Amino acid sequence: MAALILVLGDQLTHTLPAISDARKTVDTLLLAEVREEATYVNHHKKKIAFLFSAMRHFAAELKANNYTVSYIKYDDENNQGSLLEQVKLACAKGDFSEVRVTMPGEYRLLKSMQQWEHVLGCPVIFCQDNRFLSTPDEFSAWAEGRKQLRMEFFYRQMRRKHHVLMDGDNPQGGKWNYDAQNREPMPATQQVPKHTTFKTDKITDEVIRLVDDVFSDHFGHLDNFYFAVTRDDALGVLDIFLQERLPHFGKFQDAMVEGQPWLYHSHIAFYLNCGLLTAKEVIMAAEQAYCAGQVPLNSAEGFIRQILGWREYVRGYYWHFMPALKHDNYFNNSRTLPDFYWHGRTNMNCMRQCIKETKDNAYAHHIQRLMVLGNFSLLTELSPQEVQDWYLLVYADAYEWVELPNVAGMILYSDGGNLASKPYVASGSYINKMSNYCKNCGYQVSKKTGPKACPFNYLYWHFIDKHKEKLSNNPRMALIYKTYGRMKNENIDAMKQDAEIFLSKLTHNEEV
Ligand SMILES: Cc1cc2nc3c(=O)[nH]c(=O)nc-3n(C[C@H](O)[C@H](O)[C@H](O)COP(=O)(O)OP(=O)(O)OC[C@H]3O[C@@H](n4cnc5c(N)ncnc54)[C@H](O)[C@@H]3O)c2cc1C
Ligand code: SF4
Repeated sequence: MAALILVLGDQLTHTLPAISDARKTVDTLLLAEVREEATYVNHHKKKIAFLFSAMRHFAAELKANNYTVSYIKYDDENNQGSLLEQVKLACAKGDFSEVRVTMPGEYRLLKSMQQWEHVLGCPVIFCQDNRFLSTPDEFSAWAEGRKQLRMEFFYRQMRRKHHVLMDGDNPQGGKWNYDAQNREPMPATQQVPKHTTFKTDKITDEVIRLVDDVFSDHFGHLDNFYFAVTRDDALGVLDIFLQERLPHFGKFQDAMVEGQPWLYHSHIAFYLNCGLLTAKEVIMAAEQAYCAGQVPLNSAEGFIRQILGWREYVRGYYWHFMPALKHDNYFNNSRTLPDFYWHGRTNMNCMRQCIKETKDNAYAHHIQRLMVLGNFSLLTELSPQEVQDWYLLVYADAYEWVELPNVAGMILYSDGGNLASKPYVASGSYINKMSNYCKNCGYQVSKKTGPKACPFNYLYWHFIDKHKEKLSNNPRMALIYKTYGRMKNENIDAMKQDAEIFLSKLTHNEEV
């Protein structure tokens, strides 16, 4: 009997068992562009266009490989608007003995799909997602009984298990982590390679028109659509990254430059997360570049750590702590997102630049997400739920399994420090050291108080003061609380007062 195999928009990988085991003339692969998935948060227009176009190209490849494919476009008259209804219709029309689907990446979908069997009246089989280098069970086994879940130790286990950058039982070069070499700001004279972009084809043009028409109220715009939408083109992005960017990736990993969104980052999370590239091939390619002497160890290790370490770790973390992770709120923050998170009009140049680039490209690099936007979100006590939704909808690489641990665990410390050993908060001097944003700002980074003072400065000390009970025993905060202890009360009071005025302006959506 035939199987109906549902392929989700982030499962565009030919080697997934659900696809490679399909009997080409017997089973049917179903792909559908449904309203429910495109709007459970109002995703960035470029994100929807990228995924719909990648899905259409993938379906065309499957057909060319003689698979039986049913593809439901967004404006198809048979489009049912949700995955379940679409599967129901396919089952009613066809003679299927079972429905198969690769394990979804999101808790929300898994919980829903686990109920489908009752509605459909036929078995729903979950197939393995073999695109990760660890499983959620492996993470849980590692986490069992540990007091602290530091990524660094999970990463070392992954290096050993997959024998990546190893010299026998030891790490290449003698150290596991070369982060100390990876914190340089960008010199003004540095020539950054051109961003890799692709011309749109007929399929993408049609999708862009559709998204423009149907999702006009969503965040962002569709101008300068730059994505690879096929595996071949995504491999091209990886190739150029390895040659042009990876050699400097480590050194400038934390740098931020006004008007330069792309820098030496790889820009492949979109492709990894929807399946056009696999983590294993990317890691192997970077290791090979190091072995061939094309890139220094600090760059290769720094890059591989992001994928073999952080990416695998956050996925394990997500499944281990869901659903509680979504509701954690260690600092009891509840302020509504200020309007400028949507339009980007603010006198703070760092925030203005990062929001503008996010809006333009559905992309911002890690330090922008972490030390500007994330830092600000925690210092201004924004509601974790609202910040989570924002990050999930603005970035083209965002899926809850990877977005949520980064937002709840890394930037907001909502989990009380399970993921991060201390809150990622910093005053304006960090942003000034790692970027050139402060030069064009309406505020002065050197000022601690007063109307022209950089808001990150007083907000930082307000945060340190407000949460001393929760944080001062943290050994990694000891130095900060020592400095705080030496500060004059009148200085602390002045900063607290400025912070309260600023926070009140945010609450009332006044210009800041
Ligand atoms: C608040 C916040 C939200 C984030 N949301 C997402 C998200 O929704 N989707 C997403 O893929 N990444 C997310 N990240 C991680 C990281 O910022 C992006 O993966 C990265 O910026 C993507 O750009 P890139 O491909 O150029 O990455 P590079 O800087 O070139 O890094 C290489 C790869 O490493 C992986 N990686 C790096 N850091 C992380 C991390 N912290 N967690 C997981 N994988 C990582 C990504 O796959 C990335 O493509 C988030 C980080 C923060 C701080
Ligand atoms: S002065 Fe402060 S607000 Fe302005 S860019 Fe620098 S860090 Fe940002």
